Amino acid sequence: MLIQKTDHGFVFTLKNASVSTKDRVWTCSVCTPNETVCAHVEYIYELLHASLRLCPNKTISSMLHARIEQFYDAYCKLGNKQCVICLEEIESPFSIYECSRCTTVVHMECMMQYWDFEPIHFLQCLICFASLK
Ligand SMILES: [Zn+2]
Ligand SMILES: [Zn+2]
Ligand SMILES: [Zn+2]
Repeated sequence: MLIQKTDHGFVFTLKNASVSTKDRVWTCSVCTPNETVCAHVEYIYELLHASLRLCPNKTISSMLHARIEQFYDAYCKLGNKQCVICLEEIESPFSIYECSRCTTVVHMECMMQYWDFEPIHFLQCLICFASLK
């Protein structure tokens, strides 16, 4: 996924659609306009960790807008990194573990599967073995 900042908001480029937040309204490039959000916007909510119940319509609240700004900053800082377990590109900077020593990143989900049988306080970086918080 690619995120770009424009004068009017943000553009999220997904695999089969692009979603923009022009003037604080969600607009999808492939879905017909209606009152509620489409699956593409739902996907972005998921990445933002925002509850759909709090944001059932297409107008972006200031709370959600602040969350998008925060997401964008984290996204830019992360660059184009890959998860060292599944080797997929990291899409959401919020659902990862990042090693503060060597900056290795893994999806939380991949890490949880990997450490399925280990207590949580043994979470370690797979590359440098520093503990992850
Ligand atoms: Zn859509
Ligand atoms: Zn992964
Ligand atoms: Zn590390």
